[in-house]
Amino acid sequence: MRKWKILLSGLMTATLLTGCSTGQAAEEEKVTPVIPNKQDLKIAVSTDIHYLAPELTDGGPAFQKYVANGDGKQLAYSDQITDAFFEQVEKQQADILILSGDLTNNGEKASHEELAEKLTAVEKAGTDVYVIPGNHDINNPWARSFSGDEQQVTDDITPEDFEKIYQAFGYEEAISRDAYSLSYLAPASKDVWLLMLDTSIYDSNKQVGSPTTEGGLTTGTLEWVDEMAKLADKQGAKIVPVMHHNLTDHSSVIQDGYTINYADNVVETFADCGFEFSLSGHIHTQNIATATAENGTQITDIVTNALSVYPHKYGMIDYHHDKKQFDYTAKPLDMEAWAREHQAADPNLLQFDTFDYETFYQNGYNKAMEDLSTNQVLKNYSDDDKQKMADTMAIDNMCFFAGEEPPKTAGDTLWQEAPDSFLRDYIVSTQLPLKQDNNHWTSK
Ligand code: FE
Ligand code: MN
Repeated sequence: MRKWKILLSGLMTATLLTGCSTGQAAEEEKVTPVIPNKQDLKIAVSTDIHYLAPELTDGGPAFQKYVANGDGKQLAYSDQITDAFFEQVEKQQADILILSGDLTNNGEKASHEELAEKLTAVEKAGTDVYVIPGNHDINNPWARSFSGDEQQVTDDITPEDFEKIYQAFGYEEAISRDAYSLSYLAPASKDVWLLMLDTSIYDSNKQVGSPTTEGGLTTGTLEWVDEMAKLADKQGAKIVPVMHHNLTDHSSVIQDGYTINYADNVVETFADCGFEFSLSGHIHTQNIATATAENGTQITDIVTNALSVYPHKYGMIDYHHDKKQFDYTAKPLDMEAWAREHQAADPNLLQFDTFDYETFYQNGYNKAMEDLSTNQVLKNYSDDDKQKMADTMAIDNMCFFAGEEPPKTAGDTLWQEAPDSFLRDYIVSTQLPLKQDNNHWTSK
């Protein structure tokens, strides 16, 4: 979307053209991307929007059942949440908006196209948008619409479609493209270059019949990352790597499929490249964790809460040009203010905080109750104990998603002393003291 005005130096243009391996060299010779002439930056960060186009659901029994059995996404209000977020980004006059994958519920073509329309409006209002796909966005055999009692298969998209649909949201601004994935490098300013890394695996989804949860970067892509770091170094720019999958573990229990495959290799590459932090998503919780490379270099991975999931936080990074410093803060989406301003009639939107708390609490409570009544090692508790344990699960789970330490509740000891099970391990893991503030981070 952006019209390029300033030209890169000749040396850099030459490097970039040889680095371009997507067969678009001819086109890039005509339109050489230009680095925006900005100093301080406001960078909004969001992930796992899981947007579902409104016409793909009638809100009927099939949809309600799907949401109730899901992972807590507030899908019935997907459109309103997305609009409220974009409006909040606009009001804060963010220079940049980064979306780190899982843009859609399950890769529905209609969801992608409508989200892209909303993003066009975001750019018109003055915010440059940069996206990468997540594991749910491409070749997704689970793409569905909902009507009455039925789910229907609906169109999904290919990697080529993704690039076309989101052309204006990073691909057009890219000064280099990876030959092996939808990864690209795009300068957000002279100082700050975004390394948007496509970590998702989607080539085998159709054969497997499900979207692949795990993700990684190939050796080829890691070599390209190294090249990009050298290029940025020469220009005195700082690289911000963005991935859907996590650079390091953000839970002692939920790691498989969430932390990037061969994370040690990725951490070593990032350390060699001099990256101080990365942005990721996928696990849906608000969390900040640090990876340590062999030489002792520390890299902080900031995971922003899924926009689609309680408590619907997003990140705002203030980049200070004079100090060359990044300052990240997680902020809650103010749905109630949006609902009032747009004169919404729906009480769930007008009292969104209560409604959202209650639905996510119930989701956790029900999951625990189901486990407590069916799991062989857990089903012998009294009803009273089961209720206390389900309450503890609901509360601790909510705090984990918000990146906050949970309060003491009546079911704590019952869980700590419970026989081994995944749920027990998960709940106890959320009760560990926080290693760091999960909602703020400042670079050196
Ligand atoms: Fe997700
Ligand atoms: Mn994901």
